[in-house]
Amino acid sequence: MFDNLSDKLDKALHVLKGHGSITEVNVAETLKEVRRALLDADVNFKIAKDFTNTVKEKALGQNVLTALQPSQLMVKIVKDELTALMGGDVAGINLKGSPSVILMSGLQGSGKTTFSGKLANFLKTKKTKKPLLVACDVYRPAAINQLHVVGDQIGVEVFSDEGNMDPVDIATKAVAYAKQNGHNVVIVDTAGRLAVDEEMMKEIENVHRALNPDETLFVVDAMTGQDAVNTAKAFNDRLNFDGVILTKLDGDTRGGAAISIKTVVNKPIKFIGTGEKMDAIDVFYPERMADRILG
Ligand code: GDP
Repeated sequence: MFDNLSDKLDKALHVLKGHGSITEVNVAETLKEVRRALLDADVNFKIAKDFTNTVKEKALGQNVLTALQPSQLMVKIVKDELTALMGGDVAGINLKGSPSVILMSGLQGSGKTTFSGKLANFLKTKKTKKPLLVACDVYRPAAINQLHVVGDQIGVEVFSDEGNMDPVDIATKAVAYAKQNGHNVVIVDTAGRLAVDEEMMKEIENVHRALNPDETLFVVDAMTGQDAVNTAKAFNDRLNFDGVILTKLDGDTRGGAAISIKTVVNKPIKFIGTGEKMDAIDVFYPERMADRILG
């Protein structure tokens, strides 16, 4: 579906090289290709522009003009910069609390409930933890039910308090329950709205304050592209979250939202969701993501 950027750059520089030495103009041409690739991948325009300026400086600094294989060097610079931009290293998750409390935030439909289940399953299987899932969506009984279905599927207990309309009270009771029953990780799934609104922000802010979580995670649908940035910013302004979960990367998106979000909120992307099933979860590797974005 997408053209391969490496091939494109290679072609551009190769042809030009045949006509003599490579010039700054040629480099500018290839940078245009880089920018186009980023925009195709849904990276925010200003971020793509700033990025290509950085790459240009690096390219000229590293004498791409006289390099034996300029396109390869160019691709390497682009890839390294992109990786660095997305955080460089893999980010971990804080599980030091007893119990460790993980709060999920994000819009409705972003994949919070699904990811809560995936994370519980991941921690149970890979880290031999005993998680407790907590249903804090007081508006949609269907959401509570959905979490119970997920919990049954993965064999993880779900705490809910049907009829209780106070998410702070539910979450507080859940942590007490976890302590009494030997759960060392509490994953709190919260209500989400279709758009950022004041009431919802206040509610999650209250839960956040009451719980003082070890990890506050912001879940975002990678397919939402540009909108993802504004939503991330709105949540981060209120919650100062610890990390981002990028879901639905199994779709036909290149995932440029990852770069935009990282640039705007400067928080690491910790996990990705790659499907609806409970094992469709992966740690976020910046380098792999750079490959995906560049194609
Ligand atoms: P919530 O409203 O934020 O709790 O979102 P849900 O967890 O209910 O997810 C909304 C929809 O997205 C559901 O149909 C999920 O099956 C689906 N979904 C969640 N994560 C992924 C993912 O990584 N890939 C795909 N393809 N679908 C997902």
